[in-house]
Amino acid sequence: MDNKLLLIILDGVPWRNFRRLFGNLEGWVDSGEARVWKHRAVLPSISASCYASIHTGVVPTEHGCTGNGNVFRLGHKDVFSQVRQGGGVTGAVAHSFWSSFFNRHPYDPVRDVEYDEADSATINHGRFHSMTGYGLVNQMTPSDVDLFGTLTNLCLRFGLNYGMLHTCTLDCMGHRFFHDCQEMDHACFVMDEMLAPFIIKWRDMGYEIIVTADHGQDERGHHGGRSPLQQETALYYFGDATGPAEDVVIDQLQLAPTILSRLGAPIADTMKAKSFLS
Ligand SMILES: [Zn+2]
Repeated sequence: MDNKLLLIILDGVPWRNFRRLFGNLEGWVDSGEARVWKHRAVLPSISASCYASIHTGVVPTEHGCTGNGNVFRLGHKDVFSQVRQGGGVTGAVAHSFWSSFFNRHPYDPVRDVEYDEADSATINHGRFHSMTGYGLVNQMTPSDVDLFGTLTNLCLRFGLNYGMLHTCTLDCMGHRFFHDCQEMDHACFVMDEMLAPFIIKWRDMGYEIIVTADHGQDERGHHGGRSPLQQETALYYFGDATGPAEDVVIDQLQLAPTILSRLGAPIADTMKAKSFLS
């Protein structure tokens, strides 16, 4: 496999926060180096269910993850398994749910915190964190610059064809402070500034990049149900492919087949949605 793509998931960022507060990403849209569309999450618009749908391309009623309290090794084929089938090398820097869903469950905080498994049928190079102890007054999220650095490290050391990074920082900030506040303005600003130099570096390394969220959050920091603030986020794309008109809303189930088509990996029969890039 020659193609390379990184999927960056900033958990819980609603459309309006991306478009209002991420000045570097928006600047690249203005200059033509990136494109942006609205991206609508599945229902329930809760993290674990969305992670599972992003990577399997099927709805929660089919993959069976009904929420964060119901995490298990999924039975469906997913982006990692298909990239491996296509001969690619995969990596993930993410919350431990991703390891449970796509590699093995239950998550073991010693065995699974870091692994390099050349023969894995799914994730070859995993770096995970559990956020155990997370709550309103103790965020327990790693610094995002450390996560971005770790993904870059894996790309350089192992030649990842597909790398997935997921960070909960902004979702936690939204649950804690809500959205119409100085704290959230600042948190989004810092995320954008931390991410931007890595976007430049990853593009120089030959990666296509998708930056998006799993779901949005409403004015009380809530998500899980049906409303534009809960379900809608932005999706930024850096790469040479052609995409749809700017007012097209991307269905979350389109991410898996789109990523696989960009990489030249086989799309699983269960992934029925159409790629939004060509
Ligand atoms: Zn989430």
